[in-house]
Amino acid sequence: MSTPLLEVEDLTTTFSTAKGALTAVDGIDFAVAEGETVCIVGESGSGKTVATESVTRIVKEPPGRVEGSVRFKGRDLLEMSEPELREIRGYEIAHIFQNPQEAMNHCYTVGWQIVEALQIHRDVADETARAKAIDLMDRVGIANASSRFDDYPHEFSGGQKQRVMIAMALVGDPDLLIADEPTTALDVTVQAQILRLLEDLQAEFDMGILFVTHDLGVVAEIADRIVVMYAGNVMERGDVLDIFERPAHPYTQRLLNCLPEIGGRKGGIPGTLPDPLDPPDGCRFAPRCEHAVDACVTGDQPAEIEVNPGQRASCVHYRPGRDDSVVRDGIPDADADGEGVSSADD
Ligand code: SF4
Repeated sequence: MSTPLLEVEDLTTTFSTAKGALTAVDGIDFAVAEGETVCIVGESGSGKTVATESVTRIVKEPPGRVEGSVRFKGRDLLEMSEPELREIRGYEIAHIFQNPQEAMNHCYTVGWQIVEALQIHRDVADETARAKAIDLMDRVGIANASSRFDDYPHEFSGGQKQRVMIAMALVGDPDLLIADEPTTALDVTVQAQILRLLEDLQAEFDMGILFVTHDLGVVAEIADRIVVMYAGNVMERGDVLDIFERPAHPYTQRLLNCLPEIGGRKGGIPGTLPDPLDPPDGCRFAPRCEHAVDACVTGDQPAEIEVNPGQRASCVHYRPGRDDSVVRDGIPDADADGEGVSSADD
């Protein structure tokens, strides 16, 4: 990996609820380099969105509480004041979200909204801002940008609205773009166009991209590296090709087994995510894991172990002295159900 742009260590996000403390992100680490795309992948509820929203502290505090270290270009965002953070958000680090419909104000023209985003961060004259907005609309592929400047959001298709959101994200020439399921609401053809656009813009702006998705098909298209999250913890990480070719963690294997090209399991992974208010001891995936043994259900989430160069997994079977072939040999049978803890070992 080249120079780290973002270095996250021991990131922990908890929420105070009427039922007690809910740990949504449980001490995770990851990094994004300049020009690199890192995908955080996992089922809905795995903590990936909270993790990325914790990076720029757009998580509401309270009831949320974000702890750990988030160094962006060497400065810890968790140590910054709110005014300092506002200088970074939307400028050096930009977010795009899943649903542009909700993110746009339908009472104002699209061009006005891009200009507003630009003028929040920079003292730019109206005419200059208008020219920059039209240029950005053009660069994200909106045809006839100057004539579309005065159109309202309802006059744009879903794909065009997402292009507008990307244009708004680019107003500050960000070094890091955080994209949270930006293509989930789009049809497959438009999704592919938006992914290509992000890749082109990344090459042009040399941005790091932190991309959140539950869709491994999207990951295969765009990722350089993958961080697999489950129940607020990292289960596995590594280069995209390594993880697709030899997934090491049973959860990753199950996720990949849901891909039509590989296993085509209908209905996803048997079982459900654990209650974040009362997570199980040991490996959070144990109740759904067909390889679970007694060692999996005590203590904390197993420490990550290097299973191949640059690839790490949080699974007891990779501990020194154990026979890891039970999990290393890959993707389970598409018809096999998770069986929870076996009494056959440890
Ligand atoms: S074998 Fe144990 S540690 Fe490994 S994924 Fe399954 S439950 Fe977790």
